[in-house]
Amino acid sequence: MKAAVLDQINKPLVVAEVGLTPLRHGQVLVKILLSGICGAQLQEIGGYKGNAKFVPHLMGHEGVGIVQEIGEGVSFVKPGDKVVMHWRKGQGIESDFPRYIYNGKEIQSGKVTTFSEYAIVSENRLTAVPHDTPDELCALLGCSLSTALGAVNAEARVQPGESILIIGAGGLGANLIKAAKLAGASPIISLDIHEHKRDWVKGLGADLYINAATEDVATALAGVQLRDVDVIIDTSGAKRAIETTLPLLSGKGRFILLGQPKPGETIELTNAVHLFGGEGKSIKATQGGRFEPHEEIPRYLTLHKSGALQVEDLITHRVKLDGINEALDLLRSGKAARILIDF
Ligand SMILES: [Zn+2]
Repeated sequence: MKAAVLDQINKPLVVAEVGLTPLRHGQVLVKILLSGICGAQLQEIGGYKGNAKFVPHLMGHEGVGIVQEIGEGVSFVKPGDKVVMHWRKGQGIESDFPRYIYNGKEIQSGKVTTFSEYAIVSENRLTAVPHDTPDELCALLGCSLSTALGAVNAEARVQPGESILIIGAGGLGANLIKAAKLAGASPIISLDIHEHKRDWVKGLGADLYINAATEDVATALAGVQLRDVDVIIDTSGAKRAIETTLPLLSGKGRFILLGQPKPGETIELTNAVHLFGGEGKSIKATQGGRFEPHEEIPRYLTLHKSGALQVEDLITHRVKLDGINEALDLLRSGKAARILIDF
């Protein structure tokens, strides 16, 4: 089968023929329909995730597919099931790391992998869903949409009428706008550095767009009668974005870090005493919005059926696996939101 392999850190992925190995205890063979491309993969390619020692390895952590075969002990999914492929742990067995054959040698993947036609997946990284669930919704529930909903609801505990500033209008940022809208946040402010995103984020539900490349954030907020914001969620991990927006937290403010700063990077708190203003502000790093797949996916599917959660406008590009490197460049440029690989 064909797979995109991270063969060397900081080099384009190699799309190559990769062999499967027999399923082990708790493993499931999935034929992949769609995979999302996440900013986390750019960090892996850069070696930021401590993954250099595992190279070459397979990639991708959000997708949707059909179960082909199950290994010994697997009980939560069966052949023919449609499954959301997610990186957070859900129900079932945590298997050994899946193994593949690449260039005659055994290589590993993470417990879930999605940049390949087929994947061997740990049972607990799969959640079965009804067959009529849209593929795009399933794929986004593997990471970006579920992380956004979790960050807004479980981590920031956004209350109706609270203001929110979302830094970065990429795949995750776009999902966060939707999640904030669902939670009743108001106003919803989106910040990025590309002028062409202005109309698009407003279509998704943002009330205000700040182009940080040309506008001063505090001045733009004053334009909508805001001196500060209740919730700030950063998806960029960018030192400057975090440093300039932290002092804008309201007295009950929560700052949630989703984008990881580069290893070794220092972020300074200007006039740190402001954190003691009001009721005590908080800064928190989140792991995927504490998403619990087996409990939350069914809830989100109900929300989708009701019409309250639409995802089609979150997807800006679709590519084939052979176009993966061009897609990664596009993601790096900051010009795309969610890009899907269509198998
Ligand atoms: Zn992700």
